[in-house]
Amino acid sequence: MIDVVVVGGGPTGVMLASELRLHGVHVVVLEQDVEPTKVVRALGLHTRSVEVMDQRGLLERFLALGEQYPVGGFFAGILKPPPERLDTAHPYTLGIPQPTVDRLLTEHALALGVEIRRGSELIGLSQDEEGATVELADGTHLRALYAVGCDGGRSRVRKLLGVSFPGEPTKVETLLGEMEATEDPEMIAATVAEVRKTQLRFGLGLIGDGVYRVVVPAEGLAGDRIVPPTLEEFKRQLVATAGTDFGVHSPRWRSRFGDATRLAEHYRTGRVLLAGDAAHVHPPVGGQGLNLGIQDAFNLGWKLAAEVNVWAPPGLLDSYHDERHPVAADVLDNTRAQMQLMSLDPGSQAVRRLVSELMNFDDVSRYLTEKISAIDVRYDFGAGHQLLGRRMRDLELKRGRLYELMPGGRGLLLDQTGRLSVDGLAERVDHVIDTSTQLEVPAVLLRPDGHVAWVGDDQQELSRHLAKWFGVPGH
Ligand SMILES: Cc1cc2nc3c(=O)[nH]c(=O)nc-3n(C[C@H](O)[C@H](O)[C@H](O)COP(=O)(O)OP(=O)(O)OC[C@H]3O[C@@H](n4cnc5c(N)ncnc54)[C@H](O)[C@@H]3O)c2cc1C
Repeated sequence: MIDVVVVGGGPTGVMLASELRLHGVHVVVLEQDVEPTKVVRALGLHTRSVEVMDQRGLLERFLALGEQYPVGGFFAGILKPPPERLDTAHPYTLGIPQPTVDRLLTEHALALGVEIRRGSELIGLSQDEEGATVELADGTHLRALYAVGCDGGRSRVRKLLGVSFPGEPTKVETLLGEMEATEDPEMIAATVAEVRKTQLRFGLGLIGDGVYRVVVPAEGLAGDRIVPPTLEEFKRQLVATAGTDFGVHSPRWRSRFGDATRLAEHYRTGRVLLAGDAAHVHPPVGGQGLNLGIQDAFNLGWKLAAEVNVWAPPGLLDSYHDERHPVAADVLDNTRAQMQLMSLDPGSQAVRRLVSELMNFDDVSRYLTEKISAIDVRYDFGAGHQLLGRRMRDLELKRGRLYELMPGGRGLLLDQTGRLSVDGLAERVDHVIDTSTQLEVPAVLLRPDGHVAWVGDDQQELSRHLAKWFGVPGH
């Protein structure tokens, strides 16, 4: 019996598998594709995902292969200077193509002992009180205590579970590909700038070696979006949108994507859970989907591991849905708003101009930037200190940095008083006695995902919160 079968070896599935391995969980990732895809969907990581990489000791590898950009300009593409006073030690967006992110996360997972089975397609799923059974296309079956569908927007797991996926269907499709162009680069840049004054779903960006990333509205809706568009289709749509096809040729890859906006009704059905695009889809505006998936995995990993290792307090696993479902609902909403602001009708353009003016106020700009970068995420842990439920930013401590102390996915009590105790839970929670000029409260209890579970200096209260999140010693 495997502990957890993760279906889908994209960023969400691989991140989740790594988080589970940190706690000794036997995890198998099933990935239908034999080879990693060449298609470059996401182009970057936002602040909270950068923090996640830092917390797990991976950031240097990401920084070495990425480029740091100011955080402004992601809300509906409205360009403004970066807002001041963001609650993070990493106030930048990391430009890094998704295949590189996927590769780095996969290397991390393999180093931790995750088993990734490529060429393994799930076609069936059932569950009972003791576990879940998955059926593969080659006729074999696997049995696990839990299964997690990280199998993307068309999730077979979600469909087999019968979980409803309410929202709006795709209304417009966009062609995306990488190809060479014979036209003069300066003429391309000038034409793109002109067309983008009114059509924001369009672009030819030089990515090196004479190759462009081409984005252009599709003519209508394809019968099957999995079938890549032809080069002829790209040319036709470029002419229709920009008056020229720029002499595009020799595509490296071609794809198309839609703007469906949907959210799974339940993230958990018994012993099967959903994460990443399997649980939510939305247009790529603001570059949030991959980030959302990584953060789903970061929330779910330690909780599911606690279930497998039989110390999870009651309700811990269900808190995954309670915490992450509203976050995705909020992202869906901000993409709906952004799509509206990017639409061409005069009313939407007028609202766009108004929002752009409002964003000249630093508070407004910060508010919207915090949405896109997930800095604004605060889980509902009840009334209390303003830090409660938020992710703790990295802090400079007297002896080192906070995030350096959290690579193993354990809880952490940061105690500036030196008087507190983790109540016999040292197996699950580190007790760090240190101080930081950046922390204005006596002590904080951090969950393995870095969210603040308790603030204060009262041992009795702390003990209650330790039990709530980390269970009872010895169990
Ligand atoms: C044009 C575009 C641009 C984007 N830009 C950004 C961006 O800048 N920033 C950002 O954060 N997000 C962006 N996104 C979104 C991002 O690409 C996705 O949100 C992200 O890939 C989701 O990761 P995932 O692991 O949940 O799903 P996926 O990446 O879709 O991975 C799912 C995996 O499951 C596998 N699978 C599916 N079915 C089965 C099965 N039955 N059995 C076994 N395996 C299966 C698939 O082969 C796939 O490898 C963009 C998306 C698009 C289309």
